[in-house]
Amino acid sequence: MTEFDRIRSVVPTGLWIDGAETDALAGGTFTVHDPATGDTLATVADATAADAKRALDSAVAAQSSWAATSPRERAAVLRRAWELLTERTEELALLMTLEMGKTLAESRGEVAYGGEFLRWFSEEAVRIGGRYADAPAGTGRILVKQQPVGPCLAITPWNFPLAMGTRKIGPALAAGCTVIVKPAEDTPLTMLALARVFAEAGLPAGVLSVLPASDAAGVTAPLLADDRLRKVTFTGSTRVGKILLRQAADTVLRTSMELGGNAPFIVFEDADLEQALAGVMLAKMRNGGEACTAANRIYVHNSLRAEFAARLAERMGALRLGPGYAPDTDLGPLINERQRGSVAALVDDAVEAGAVLRTGGKAVDGPGYFFEPTVLDEVPRTARIHREEIFGPVAAIYGFDTEDEVIALANDTEYGLAAYFYTQNLDRALRVSDALEAGMVGVNRGVISDPAAPFGGVKQSGLGSEGGSEGIHEYLDTKYVAFTR
Ligand code: NAD
Repeated sequence: MTEFDRIRSVVPTGLWIDGAETDALAGGTFTVHDPATGDTLATVADATAADAKRALDSAVAAQSSWAATSPRERAAVLRRAWELLTERTEELALLMTLEMGKTLAESRGEVAYGGEFLRWFSEEAVRIGGRYADAPAGTGRILVKQQPVGPCLAITPWNFPLAMGTRKIGPALAAGCTVIVKPAEDTPLTMLALARVFAEAGLPAGVLSVLPASDAAGVTAPLLADDRLRKVTFTGSTRVGKILLRQAADTVLRTSMELGGNAPFIVFEDADLEQALAGVMLAKMRNGGEACTAANRIYVHNSLRAEFAARLAERMGALRLGPGYAPDTDLGPLINERQRGSVAALVDDAVEAGAVLRTGGKAVDGPGYFFEPTVLDEVPRTARIHREEIFGPVAAIYGFDTEDEVIALANDTEYGLAAYFYTQNLDRALRVSDALEAGMVGVNRGVISDPAAPFGGVKQSGLGSEGGSEGIHEYLDTKYVAFTR
């Protein structure tokens, strides 16, 4: 019996439309692989434009009744879904590890993190406020209320197969919107399992659909062109985000965009080195380095750089590679061959440009898409790795001398998602957190994501926030009602 056989019975492999599993109208399927072996895990129904229309028909049909449910009822469904998800942590974690590759410990962490968005937004559903004022001229009354945007399309990436969905579905349902999810083609199974959890939690048919598809644009472009759709919310690369923004312009769709990053991680000369090393292991290696918030450019003050690089290389070199479901694994495979090839190309380019390899540096032979944990030191800033998102277990270290210099370097990128720095000087902590051009800043912390905080980027890292009290407003329209006195 394979690991997947243990959970096969709880994983839907059809499309999820109108509250039930169904085949694709055209009858197509595609395969999902275990990145640790390259073996086929499952064959999944392959949605096309015709299925997208079916899903939107059912989302539109369900929209007004879902919007009319009381906030308490919506909160109760979200709360039950969180409870069910939590009860099923082990099977969902195994499923996620099988299709995405991360370790079981990481996957359990994602079930907890992803689930928290459902609990958090169950609590926010009953706090959608409004505003009342007397008009200054004394001639009228101003009533401001919030209403659900309407049917939403959510497009999600493979790196957090559950949490990138719950971060959108949670606030959308809390606000009273219906949702169609197009999960990443590498990892559609976790989202299908989530749809089933919602059905068991009492979510009415049509409110949530899931459309796995091998041709993403073939499914999403017709939805974006249909003026019954009212919003697109996307997490993925900046490249695809721009395509979607262009398409959204035609129907003036509401958009939320969580895009790529190129996070700086700065270690000042007054940092606690031990704390900074622990922090960089998290900021770099959480999710195997496949995170949009991952530390991409590690700037270490030149007085500490050599020691920092040596100690980081020791920690990285000690990580044990293996399938995420094997007991002693610290680091699983990358998602697929293409991703591994792009990580290898960035490392080769940096070494050619003059970077010093302290550990790792190569793809691992054999089945699966493994890449050695790698530390590059003294990386020239001309190397591609300085500008491009790595998305793998590769730490690239650069030296610097002054605060002004490193802030200018940190901000010299079109991205602005996360930034981290370590210092024990409070004035500097305040000054630098103001100066960094990023939507999220970690001060003496390597992990910043929190369902209770607004997650989002500036510049080409995105538009809007997910989580926090801000997150639900992405799914609400403001309506002003004018009353005569
Ligand atoms: P991707 O942009 O290739 O794909 C993301 C999703 O978009 C997938 O579901 C894919 O099928 C779909 N897609 C691809 N082309 C499309 C098209 N033309 N039209 C419609 N949909 C299309 O990204 P990825 O490789 O899956 O994910 C990695 C990227 O996601 C990284 O850049 C990472 O930084 C980013 N990311 C951002 C956040 C954030 O919150 N800012 C979180 C996680 C990942």
